[in-house]
Amino acid sequence: AKRWGRADAVLRGLDERCAAPPARLRQVADAVAVEMHAGLASEGGSKLGMIISYVDSLPSGQEKGLFYALDLGGTNFRVLRVQLGGKEGRVVKQECEEISIPAHLMTGTSQELFDFIAAALAKFVSSEGEDFHLLEGRQRELGFTFSFPVKQSSIASGTLIKWTKGFSIDETVGADVVAELSSALDRQGLDMKVTALVNDTIGTLAGGRYDDSDVVAAVILGTGTNAAYVERANAIPKWHGLLPKSGDMVINMEWGNFRSSHLPLTEFDQALDAESLNPGEQIYEKLISGMYLGEIVRRVLLKMTEEASLFGDDIPPKLKIPFILRTPHMSMMHHDTSPDLRTVGAKLKDVLGIQGTSLKTRRLVVAVCDIVAKRGARLAAAGIHGVLKKLGRDIPSSDKHRTVIAMDGGLYEHYTIFSETLESTLREMLGEEVSSSVVIKLANDGSGIGAALLAAAHSQYL
Ligand code: ADP
Ligand code: MG
Repeated sequence: AKRWGRADAVLRGLDERCAAPPARLRQVADAVAVEMHAGLASEGGSKLGMIISYVDSLPSGQEKGLFYALDLGGTNFRVLRVQLGGKEGRVVKQECEEISIPAHLMTGTSQELFDFIAAALAKFVSSEGEDFHLLEGRQRELGFTFSFPVKQSSIASGTLIKWTKGFSIDETVGADVVAELSSALDRQGLDMKVTALVNDTIGTLAGGRYDDSDVVAAVILGTGTNAAYVERANAIPKWHGLLPKSGDMVINMEWGNFRSSHLPLTEFDQALDAESLNPGEQIYEKLISGMYLGEIVRRVLLKMTEEASLFGDDIPPKLKIPFILRTPHMSMMHHDTSPDLRTVGAKLKDVLGIQGTSLKTRRLVVAVCDIVAKRGARLAAAGIHGVLKKLGRDIPSSDKHRTVIAMDGGLYEHYTIFSETLESTLREMLGEEVSSSVVIKLANDGSGIGAALLAAAHSQYL
């Protein structure tokens, strides 16, 4: 009984520290909007990078021809080719392949990583079928989705600011990632030109806009989290270039690095951050994204074991292994609707090697998942609300325009309680009238096709 009391105390403490009531979410949303302004005003003016993407026009639908895309940004990378048929033909044909990156390459050398990617791409190109047509005498062109913070210097060049999401290769930091990829393509003997360097948010924004002209922003909730949106170029004080013809500029917010005293942080978050590959950075991402949610839960369960012998007197050795409990495991436990919570029992056994858990214990585990997932989802909703505020789309307007947010990422796609909490929280924050015109649209792998569309829009042959 004493044991349960202590476990309950840990749970209650967690619940209190993770609380994100409406007033606090409003503070977070306000802080996001304020930081957006600051990041646009000056380089380094904010935790939010607010990176100028050099994408000043989004796909129109006129794009034509064969284009490739490569998407690197998490544990998998994807290669894609698409035959675009212009206004009438749209996407004539599309093929995609997903390849997982061996863990040792994520912390090895730059050349090894890019050679691996180029080799996979070369293999994919060699399987190009008859349905795809490259115009006579043309070079194949590629949109490169590289979902790490990059300082763009043009639409097709940019240097890596830092790695995130478990990647860590020092020599790549500061290097032009297009040059790195292009040399690797040369080493493979693959004749292909990178005509657009974007990240997944910008790819998703482009792909989303191709499908729906009311798309104004894109959000990624996958291994990491980020957002991009369309800004008026004359509202970007730090932009000293010519004003683009469209008057628009797409901004890559790098919102994963947001932080604020209003964020509900716990001892678990602090320890996770301190022991991470990038301490002090990506604080918002560490509260929200798929890479971290399961790990936060593991840390809470470990504490409950240490303080309250949750799983018996000995600490199950696997529970001490960082990142062993993945967010998909957490999500499966959280969605368990069986009366005896058998999926929870099975996951505890299979993932953590903990046998014979009682129903009471399983309920406690679900309660931990619930607190951690809902905090993340509510904070993500507050981030979106902040962006809508900056765009002036958080208040009722006389013209009845829709506001569409293109969403991508495995966390949002598969973690139903997370996505439902996000949507209901956003509704709660916006109120009925405004939220009736705000739509979150799942753009499943929109970033791949988006990058191909941007490669087409920035073709050397235009
Ligand atoms: P990436 O973000 O690496 O480009 P995805 O968008 O496919 O790739 O997202 C993958 C991430 O989504 C995984 O790292 C995981 O955190 C999360 N995820 C995948 N499946 C699930 C699931 N069933 N439940 C919860 N989270 C999931
Ligand atoms: Mg992705």
